[in-house]
Amino acid sequence: MRKHNFSAGPCILPQEVMKKASDAVLNFNDLNLSLIEISHRSKDFVEVMENARSLALELLGLQGKGYQALFLQGGASTEFLMVAYNLLNKKAAYLNTGTWSDKSIKEARLFGEVIEVASSKDANFNYIPKNYTVPGDVDYFHCTSNNTIFGTSLKSFPEVNVPLVCDMSSDIFSREMDFSKFDLIYAGAQKNMGPAGTTLVVVKEDILGKVERKIPSMMDYKVHISKDSMFNTPSVFAVYVSMLTLEWLKDLGGIAAIEKVNDKKGDLLYTEIDRNPLFKGFAATEDRSNMNATFNLTDDSLKESFDTMWKEAGINGLNGHRSVGGYRASMYNALPLESVQVLVDVMKELERKA
Ligand code: PMP
Repeated sequence: MRKHNFSAGPCILPQEVMKKASDAVLNFNDLNLSLIEISHRSKDFVEVMENARSLALELLGLQGKGYQALFLQGGASTEFLMVAYNLLNKKAAYLNTGTWSDKSIKEARLFGEVIEVASSKDANFNYIPKNYTVPGDVDYFHCTSNNTIFGTSLKSFPEVNVPLVCDMSSDIFSREMDFSKFDLIYAGAQKNMGPAGTTLVVVKEDILGKVERKIPSMMDYKVHISKDSMFNTPSVFAVYVSMLTLEWLKDLGGIAAIEKVNDKKGDLLYTEIDRNPLFKGFAATEDRSNMNATFNLTDDSLKESFDTMWKEAGINGLNGHRSVGGYRASMYNALPLESVQVLVDVMKELERKA
């Protein structure tokens, strides 16, 4: 039996996607060749790349609105510096909501002045700061929509009159938003999209080409756009699996449909965390993420029993990140509601036994 996989990333992907991906590794498109042994310039792979790029824009509702989708390499961590390389002339504003925002700020500081408009570092990032102002004279404003480690998410985004940049690595394609409010979105594939190895970048073309510095080709979004995301050899397998996952999502009814399931999963788990006296949530209630739920036991002496019980129930990947401790249940798009029910049943069982 498959495990109930609550891993934070790399993480669960749809079973039918795994099946198609493994078939393609053996024999892709009936070519009698593997997907990973053909040229990325072959017609068959170019079709994959084009399909993946157009599905990403379609699902986000951004087709025909001046955006380009790219599948790059180097993880979201490379986007921390690429964003600044391409957009930061003098000053940028950042909202600091966790480890990943913190790292993006550190990289941007290599390129210019960074104004941290607000931070929740004082409370180990267990909430999202509100009521901050974004100065009007910055080159862009950067935020992280979902904080994978701390289990918080931004429910709303500030109205700004500068380009809005967002790291959506851990909640892209999971909830509806007006994506056209954003000028640049990036996300590592290894949560809601595919295996590690590629990063989706969605960028509004008209914000590019405005910095004075020279940009090395691999770091230059314009170069990647001009080469249709094939400036160098793309991560063919990761792009293919991302394409399959985006097709799966489209067939399901897109972001609107998956959001309903994600809301149900979040409600189910958070209701139990709040009800069960043996558990307490980590993140501030109004900022809780439906992708990563962070919680702890109220009585540490129950840790051994609880850990044994969830492992026996076939659950994987529930340990919290080392900077928060406790538990983290990651409930990405491909995690079925039934898996969350299994976890909730174990929590109830612990209460009965304690
Ligand atoms: N941003 C967020 C929100 C993340 O969750 C992660 C990784 N988990 C990263 C950035 C870094 O991504 P990568 O490992 O692909 O560089």
